[in-house]
Amino acid sequence: MSATSTDTQATNGIPQERRLVTTIPGPLSTALQARKTEAVSNGIGVMLPVYIAKAGGGVLVDVDGNSLIDMGSGIAVTTVGNANPDVVEGVARQVADFTHTCFMVTPYSGYVEVCEALNRLTPGDHAKRSALFNSGAEAVENAVKIARAYTKRPAVVVVEHGYHGRTNLTMALTAKNMPYKQSFGPFAPEVYRVPMSYPYRDRGLSGKEMAAIATTRIEKEVGASNVAAIIIEPIQGEGGFIVPGEGYFSAMAAFAKDNGIVFVADEIQSGFCRTGDWFASEFEQVVPDLITTAKGIAGGMPLAAVTGRAEIMDAVHAGGLGGTYGGNPVACAAALGAIRWMENADANQLARDIEAVMVPRLRAMAQEFPSIGDIRGRGAMIAIELVRPGSMEPDADLAGALNRYCHAHGVITLTTGTYGNVFRFLPPLTMPTHLLEEALTILEQAFEAVAAS
Ligand SMILES: *Cc1c(COP(=O)(O)O)cnc(C)c1O
Repeated sequence: MSATSTDTQATNGIPQERRLVTTIPGPLSTALQARKTEAVSNGIGVMLPVYIAKAGGGVLVDVDGNSLIDMGSGIAVTTVGNANPDVVEGVARQVADFTHTCFMVTPYSGYVEVCEALNRLTPGDHAKRSALFNSGAEAVENAVKIARAYTKRPAVVVVEHGYHGRTNLTMALTAKNMPYKQSFGPFAPEVYRVPMSYPYRDRGLSGKEMAAIATTRIEKEVGASNVAAIIIEPIQGEGGFIVPGEGYFSAMAAFAKDNGIVFVADEIQSGFCRTGDWFASEFEQVVPDLITTAKGIAGGMPLAAVTGRAEIMDAVHAGGLGGTYGGNPVACAAALGAIRWMENADANQLARDIEAVMVPRLRAMAQEFPSIGDIRGRGAMIAIELVRPGSMEPDADLAGALNRYCHAHGVITLTTGTYGNVFRFLPPLTMPTHLLEEALTILEQAFEAVAAS
């Protein structure tokens, strides 16, 4: 990896080591968790009740003084590293100058600069516009509003295993019931779900064949002329890091184009150098009409965006989009710092370097542990799918057991997937190679420990 990934500038001055001084969680975290139970809604779950005091590089330090290896980046958010110096510097300067005016009342340059950067960095050299929001779900909702205003059509098509957020409209767009949708209906109408290409589980059907099934479904069951937008993640996040078979994503985009449908790439998890490209759509040379971004955009500050073709983005009447906080000046300063760091650090190469370390190690583990049914993903967005050996039956229990072992041994890992059996890795691009290797060694030990028990 390049020098920028391990120098003190990107580590927040924190020793890059895994170091446990208490059991996990430690006594101070346990006390805080007891207060959490009394103060915070039960609906807000906590995966690992380790309360964080400081973070940087590849490490989170908790209130008990434990240093944990961060293989999650707060769900693909701190791609540029926690407390990245370029983000901290931009935020500190901006927060001292002014904290808020509301861009719709009296604007400021940071908002315009973020939109210019998005228009420049997203695929395609056509005229583009952007609009800024607070969260990924809000960006997806606004993409639907924009596509409906432009096409004057009602229907929205999404795919199996898709995840687009937790607001009412985005719950309707999201596939998985528990925990996202259970007891929260009724959901927004005019949302239609068609097959996704899931190479591991499609019984040999290619990406193109799956796209043909999906587009036939749209034609026969929805009517292409009723569809405002098709929304797809180029690599699915919460659905299980599913990478569609070759040709699926581009065929869906081509079908949208042929039928006057706005093609929306939801790059909220896969964007901003996560997969070794600025945007995962680039892998199949797809130029989406609209792209939704959030997560990695601003180094941890809440910011989201819709970016796309000028004629589509400008189809909305003045005042039709917005919100009090969307494109907050502090979040914009963070985004400009994060984007500058990604450009200077050659972040896409850092993501590819992480893949080059992880995939061979995971392949070697798959030789030894037949419960690894599939290894997939790109760049710093890699996952293994766990199954009962000799079958394709999802093994969520194993995913849970591995997760618990990794957590107890100071590695923050995440599970995902419709069946809860996918173990996913989203390290920050500032992860030092020695810690990445150590995290994989702990995972290997987790497999051995579970096998032995
Ligand atoms: C996380 C995510 C969202 C929702 O973003 P929030 O900021 O949590 O609202 C939408 N789409 C994808 C692909 C995501 O990964």
